[in-house]
Amino acid sequence: MKVMKFGGTSVGSVDSILSVKRIVESANEPVIVIVSALGGITDRLINTSKMAATGDPAYEGEFREIVFRHVEMIKEVVPAGERQVGLLRRIGELLNELKDIFQGVYLIKDLSSKTADTIVSYGERLSSVLVAELIEGAEWYDSRTFIKTEKKHNKDTLDVDLTNSLVKAAFQKIPKVALVPGFISSDKTTGNVTNLGRGGSDYTASIIAAALDANSLEIWTDVDGFMTADPRVISTAYTIAELSYVEATELCNFGAKVVYPPTIYPVYHKNIPILIKNTFNPDGVGTVIKQNVTSPECKAIKGISSINDTSLITVQGLGMVGVIGVNYRIFKALAKNGISVFLVSQASSENSTSIGVRNADADLACEVLNDEFVKEIEVGEISPILAERDLATVAIVGENMKHTPGIAGKLFGTLGRNGINVIACAQGASETNISFVVDSKSLRKSLNVIHDSFFLSEFQVLNLFICGVGTVGGSLVEQIRSQQQKLMVENGLKLHVVGIIDASKAIFSRQGFDLANFREELKDKGKESSLEAIREEVVGMNIFNSVFVDCTASPDIALLYKDFLQHNISVVAANKIAASSAYENYRELKTIARQRGVKFLFETNVGAGLPIINTINDLIHSGDKILKIEAVLSGTLNYIFNKISADIPFSRTIKMAQEERYSEPDPRIDLSGKDVVRKLVILAREAGYCIEQEDVETNLFVPTDFFDGSLDDFWKRVPSLDADFEARRQVLETEHKHWRFVAKLDNGKASVGLQEVGANHRFTAWKVVIISSY
Ligand code: ADP
Ligand code: ASP
Ligand code: MG
Repeated sequence: MKVMKFGGTSVGSVDSILSVKRIVESANEPVIVIVSALGGITDRLINTSKMAATGDPAYEGEFREIVFRHVEMIKEVVPAGERQVGLLRRIGELLNELKDIFQGVYLIKDLSSKTADTIVSYGERLSSVLVAELIEGAEWYDSRTFIKTEKKHNKDTLDVDLTNSLVKAAFQKIPKVALVPGFISSDKTTGNVTNLGRGGSDYTASIIAAALDANSLEIWTDVDGFMTADPRVISTAYTIAELSYVEATELCNFGAKVVYPPTIYPVYHKNIPILIKNTFNPDGVGTVIKQNVTSPECKAIKGISSINDTSLITVQGLGMVGVIGVNYRIFKALAKNGISVFLVSQASSENSTSIGVRNADADLACEVLNDEFVKEIEVGEISPILAERDLATVAIVGENMKHTPGIAGKLFGTLGRNGINVIACAQGASETNISFVVDSKSLRKSLNVIHDSFFLSEFQVLNLFICGVGTVGGSLVEQIRSQQQKLMVENGLKLHVVGIIDASKAIFSRQGFDLANFREELKDKGKESSLEAIREEVVGMNIFNSVFVDCTASPDIALLYKDFLQHNISVVAANKIAASSAYENYRELKTIARQRGVKFLFETNVGAGLPIINTINDLIHSGDKILKIEAVLSGTLNYIFNKISADIPFSRTIKMAQEERYSEPDPRIDLSGKDVVRKLVILAREAGYCIEQEDVETNLFVPTDFFDGSLDDFWKRVPSLDADFEARRQVLETEHKHWRFVAKLDNGKASVGLQEVGANHRFTAWKVVIISSY
């Protein structure tokens, strides 16, 4: 005999309920089937009763929805005829009782816990009657007669012994299919309807399986099994083939909703395996939970779970140090008031004890602890006890963690690199679980980085924000699009573009964009892209492994880097402004990046695609000193001096450079040597010299007053230089020479200027010369 439990989603739709019928009817041994309420009905029952209790007449509409769901379901799944009429009558009777109860609540505007429990029990009572009719030969049982609870600490708690004997008595003879409502029970003394807590149908199934020594317990749900993390949060989570009872308990207790936590213990006790299966994919392998598991992948951790409902209460004070019995008093006071503690952390100094409780328990916990320690607080031995709210608890779980050094290091290192602050942590000596508390805003990010870092997912993910989609940014997006697949297959690297920003609009998506038509998406769905909006979105998304890529030439965007780096967002800049800004600023950005363990990279600032900065860094790291750098660093000026000829005057070459998008958006930045000065400053700094732009000596070829007015003025005046350039060009031509705009760094002295080079000069062929010594 086996026990099969079908959750709310499995009986929530016509297709799924018909799938349940097929699965049960194809079993080749007797089965006890436990069902939950139709998906969403329990929530609806609770909401409707709250509305009725506040005197809101709209409760009737909600109730009608409940009626509609059941009636429609019956009409769809039971063929018209006598059976359908009979079932509609029985369901109708139950719904009429429920209607009367709601009306009573509405009239007296009072909802006792007894009435609330009665109302919520109708979910399973209705669904079980419905499914019993649907499955051939199924016999309906009333779980209220054999699942018995008693009040403990004001909570309905299972009376294990009584329940076991009643279950055995009820199932002395097991039919081919027994149909049992999950979740509901009754009080052993008063006989009132009670329940086993939200999600409790799993527990009903486990209690019955254990009492009757079933061969197995199957939990049928809407996912392929127990997964490495909640698939609604981590899209790359995958099904775990096998879990031990201990691992499953650890994960369920910390929020893996797929199994209700108390479910594991009864069957563990009897060594009955649990199978988690998908009603929507019955042929899938699913997950087995059993005693001894082999882990073929030898992963250090099996899964991650979390609860986004944590308050941390810290009892602290120097008066606690070495005093015996403080913890005893803390836990006694909490237990007496029925407050469940799920995480405890105490440093060996005994100066403080932190306790994790649900948000709903936080006020009461503070109250009872402040009462308990009133005397100590009065004399200052212990500080007044307060709760820190809006936190989340994450647990990583796996029996392989035992005796494996480095897991905690890796965990906290990963969190730190992503700027996630750990508020409290706990690891038991069993070493199967490390739990920690973070700000709830960092929960999603924490789960993602841990999942990624422990290689639960096959790929390393980088989340990119691309700012500026002109020539450079546009090509970058195109390059990412064409390389995405290759990088994934060959390098295990997944590039997600999660933000695209241009001068007027910005779009963001946690899942990443399809880059094929990002421009239309930006145009149609883009939001305002002010500096503040960009900052808020990029920081606010708080997404893991994120990189802000600046493909603009904007000084304003460069001002955002510091904030991004401080939030552990790497910055990669094609924009030269930050790296060539005041030395102090450059230094500070590099320092923050180093301290935060993120990157501030700007390789393309100098030498376009050539890895010049990298080369300089390598030389320095291996102990070299950079003595001299000579380089032709301006593509625009090279273009201009190559194009200039008897037919194409100087002024025309500038226009052409702009049209061909060689130049900076404002070509004066190139002609004034400013662009080359910036590049040289960046090279010099990377080479270890403290240098500012003003320190660079400039020998220009356009009079400086040409740069004073507007861009229009400049275009008007520049043709006046053509005749002089043509004369000088003719002389050069006869001497077989060329112009090169050369940047030089010589023992810390920097200069840029126009140089005439002969046919054999190194700068006719080379771009960069670096001389270093060891
Ligand atoms: P049922 O109605 O069948 O009882 P539940 O909603 O109670 O279903 O539980 C199944 C859900 O649990 C899944 O849809 C999934 O979103 C969630 N879940 C959370 N953590 C995990 C996990 N580690 N593995 C699988 N599912 C999980
Ligand atoms: N129907 C109940 C609930 O939604 C019990 C269950 O689904 O297990 O909590
Ligand atoms: Mg459930």
